[in-house]
Amino acid sequence: MARLLFDVPVPALPVIGEEALYPVRRIFCVGRNYAGHAREMGSDPSREPPFYFTKAADCLVPGGGDVPYPPATANLHHEVELVIALARPLFRAAPEQAGSALFGLAVGLDLTRRDLQFAARDKGRPWDLGKSFEHAAPVSALLRAATAPEAGAVTLTVNGEIRQKGDLADMIWPVPELLAHLSHYYRLGPGDLVFTGTPEGVGPLSPGDRLSGGIAGVGELAVTIVAQP
Ligand code: MN
Repeated sequence: MARLLFDVPVPALPVIGEEALYPVRRIFCVGRNYAGHAREMGSDPSREPPFYFTKAADCLVPGGGDVPYPPATANLHHEVELVIALARPLFRAAPEQAGSALFGLAVGLDLTRRDLQFAARDKGRPWDLGKSFEHAAPVSALLRAATAPEAGAVTLTVNGEIRQKGDLADMIWPVPELLAHLSHYYRLGPGDLVFTGTPEGVGPLSPGDRLSGGIAGVGELAVTIVAQP
């Protein structure tokens, strides 16, 4: 094979209790998967089919840590979410097949430039500027798991105050159905992460804010927003 002209970093996540890292190939995100968040975004939380957007793999902030406040926004928002990591191929699958493709679970933040997202949404333009930018996807270390939990508290505190509080049981589309649905559009496989949507309570962040996300039985994620260097 021809040599590469230069090296580019491969984004990767730590795995709890293991030395080897999980390499990240793609990041898929579900738009609205909790009724409360759909309502706060001005939508009707009916059970219409899920919709997706993507973040570039290099949005990843492995294990959390410092996140520089991003450029070109005055309204950076937090969205705490269960993240699914896949280990095996999944294509045109039924929900009962989806579990066999799982590698593990993590706590993620779908950081969003809400002003840019809404400006794009209102003009019918793509969401990329609002959703896919450097440091837009902090994700905790992966917990190996054969199945996704059907229930469990999802919380986010900012500077010690609870901002988001929900439960995995309130997902409009549970994980097996989501993965099955997405697998009709992509040949999913190892290295793919899926952000499964956020409960209500999203809100703005400022430099200096300390975030702590948690999902019962999955893990915790700590992030500090720092001023742009
Ligand atoms: Mn989200």
